[in-house]
Amino acid sequence: MVTAPARPVGIVGAGIVGLAVARQLAGSGVPVVVFEKESAVAQHQSGRNSGVVHAGIYYAPGSAKALMCRRGVELLRAYCSDRGLVWNALGKLVVARDDAETERLRELERRSLANGVPGGRWLNPAALAELAPGVAGKAAPVSPPQAIVRYPAPPLPPGGCGRPGSPAPLRTLRSRPSPRSPADNAVRRVP
Ligand SMILES: Cc1cc2nc3c(=O)[nH]c(=O)nc-3n(C[C@H](O)[C@H](O)[C@H](O)COP(=O)(O)OP(=O)(O)OC[C@H]3O[C@@H](n4cnc5c(N)ncnc54)[C@H](O)[C@@H]3O)c2cc1C
Repeated sequence: MVTAPARPVGIVGAGIVGLAVARQLAGSGVPVVVFEKESAVAQHQSGRNSGVVHAGIYYAPGSAKALMCRRGVELLRAYCSDRGLVWNALGKLVVARDDAETERLRELERRSLANGVPGGRWLNPAALAELAPGVAGKAAPVSPPQAIVRYPAPPLPPGGCGRPGSPAPLRTLRSRPSPRSPADNAVRRVP
């Protein structure tokens, strides 16, 4: 339960992090204004990344990253499903070329199991060649839940970022830090 402040909360940056925070606050009834220096959202990392939804095979078991990654996959899958956004569960192969790399991938396999990533399998060279002809390696763990999304799409669902039926709670403003306007949340509009 969040007590709504009298003035809107200002969030600087309309990437996926700023927009996700704004959406969460707006969904709790807190008025928000997102300040963005570009003329559209997701113009930097959020709109120019590889689109991989990490399944949780890399992070140390029990760490905040591992826990948030696992929970985030499920939240993002539901979010994309509700809105008809791309969710392409291609899976991911991580290929070891020699014994040293195979050893390191055993650690990823251990982390994957400990983090509760479902459906992991360990492929030997014959199984790898069958699944991915043309890829040569000593071994390869495969992580079936790994998916591809279009990250610029999640921040821009049809109907805005608020709850269905609510007025769009976000405005994006081209802005920049201004030491002369501290009362204006330290940002102001660029003419
Ligand atoms: C090459 C690459 C590939 C990646 N691949 C993946 C991947 O496959 N999967 C994955 O999960 N993650 C991936 N990531 C990481 C992921 O893209 C980032 O963690 C995420 O997009 C960060 O979001 P953000 O909102 O913090 O930053 P950004 O998306 O960069 O947003 C920051 C925003 O703040 C704005 N801004 C900055 N200063 C001001 C100001 N003074 N006033 C107003 N606005 C301002 C910027 O214009 C920008 O829009 C990748 C990153 C890179 C670089």
